[in-house]
Amino acid sequence: MACGEFGPGRLPEPERIAATIRKLLLAPQGAGPLAGRRAVVTAGPTREPLDPVRFISNHSSGKQGYAIAEALARLGADVRLVTGPTSLAIPDGVKGMKVETAVEMHDAVKAQLPADIFVSVAAVADWRPASRAQTKLKLKGGADAGVALQLVENPDILKRIASKKKDRPRLVVGFAAETNDVEAHARAKLVRKGCDWIIANDVSGDVMGGSDNEVLLVTRKGTERWPRMAKAEVAMRLAERIAEAFCDPEQADARK
Ligand code: C5P
Repeated sequence: MACGEFGPGRLPEPERIAATIRKLLLAPQGAGPLAGRRAVVTAGPTREPLDPVRFISNHSSGKQGYAIAEALARLGADVRLVTGPTSLAIPDGVKGMKVETAVEMHDAVKAQLPADIFVSVAAVADWRPASRAQTKLKLKGGADAGVALQLVENPDILKRIASKKKDRPRLVVGFAAETNDVEAHARAKLVRKGCDWIIANDVSGDVMGGSDNEVLLVTRKGTERWPRMAKAEVAMRLAERIAEAFCDPEQADARK
């Protein structure tokens, strides 16, 4: 209300208005083209601890993964969002599982199988410190008192889920952040990781942490170039493509 007064007439915060609209748009439970399908989505960064106070991580905001989880839920899927640390709230209609490290993320994803759909959006740290100090590492001082960090490889969650003999989700979608030759690198990644679709984006600009994204959908059949759009729109379009793949009676195999 005007003149510094407060009360029920006050306009709610924009986030609250958006959350209410999103709730209204959610497919009622058990309805929507993806009703009865389980989707597992990973999002955000992982944190790999060095000692009780320090970690290695990256700039992933989680925005794209959270938006995909929300879009799949809107189409009726039973969505499990396995997320690294972010500042975002778990979207309505989505079951969130919070993890820190890549190993925890891998375990949490496996615990959600069997699933129909796996969308691997998380920026999983490729390496973790070989050991975690129990107490805070201290400066030693002196001219050449640097510290050599030994790193070991983390599990490639996408590759491991895509290559599962038992309980492999019917559609496995990976992401590829590239800075050059986006399509060629994405197609090579599709084969190397054994996934069905890759959403590829050029991260040489402001994509990480930004609200917009410009992506290619690379499948075994071909490549679609989507125009620049909000991450929420990329998410909705991907969810619709997934629903089409599962609903088309002509297409027995959603992986094509
Ligand atoms: O090989 P690269 O990290 O570029 O591959 C990106 C894709 O692989 C993303 O879908 C990401 O979620 C997934 N990934 C993973 N586990 C890793 C590394 C990447 O699931 N350790």
